[in-house]
Amino acid sequence: MNEMAPLAAYLPFNRGCLKNGFEPAKRGAVAGAPKGRWLIMQEQSVVVGTDGHEISLPEGERPAGFDAATGEPACLGHCGDEAFWVLALPKDAPLPPGYHAETIVPMRGTKLPDDLLTLGGMAAQLLWWESTSGFCPRCGDATTRIVGEWGKQCPRCAYEHYPHLHPCTITMIRDTPNRRVLLARKAEWAPGRYALVAGFVDNGESLEGCVRREVMEEVGVEVGEIRYVGSQNWPFPSQLMCGFVAEYAGGDIAVDTTELEDARWFPADELPIRPSRHSIAGYIIANFSRL
Ligand SMILES: [Zn+2]
Repeated sequence: MNEMAPLAAYLPFNRGCLKNGFEPAKRGAVAGAPKGRWLIMQEQSVVVGTDGHEISLPEGERPAGFDAATGEPACLGHCGDEAFWVLALPKDAPLPPGYHAETIVPMRGTKLPDDLLTLGGMAAQLLWWESTSGFCPRCGDATTRIVGEWGKQCPRCAYEHYPHLHPCTITMIRDTPNRRVLLARKAEWAPGRYALVAGFVDNGESLEGCVRREVMEEVGVEVGEIRYVGSQNWPFPSQLMCGFVAEYAGGDIAVDTTELEDARWFPADELPIRPSRHSIAGYIIANFSRL
């Protein structure tokens, strides 16, 4: 086991990945005229310039040629002196010459560098929140923004809500004495690719309780010691993935075929195709499977 693993805090989609630091914008605060670098989102893709060899974001004042973008630009925040602005472009809107839309989804083979992936993920979450918070979930009235916050308030019933993050656990099960690791796959994944057991935390449940329950439900084994190894903000659309390593404590594998296609033990030195290096699943397997 590698006790000196790099911190998961630096994985893409976590703000810690941005080398110059990131100061998120508070909505309602004065952000100045829209000028800086532009995260123009087209569904789960970022519009990037393709001039030369480097992928780059449009820069300067609101870029021309994106008139189909809906709504006002929103300030995402600042890296140093540089402001980042977000616009949503409809799915089928054509792009001006020199631009293309690059996916932020790791499993679709994104070519974005880690910093743009992280900024794109935050932009996607901002737009997701805007698209899901326009009406009060309690009484249905149109909401208004709470000044200086991302939150929304209902003028009729005073209900307040804030951007939602959904906690999930993601777990690698290890049988250390036998130097093997339990990995699982879903039917929709690329052939031969195996990853970890994951699921949403239930009401009234601790993270550790969620690990034990999800492991038992999905692969049918018991786990003993559980250790937290890091987390990743996952903007598809809004999960907080909490990563764990759990020691096998007994039982035979019984796959829940409503969730998984397969789960099996792999010798620690003969692992199958792994998840993307961009995901915490890839991080955990890369750093905690050497037994
Ligand atoms: Zn209401």
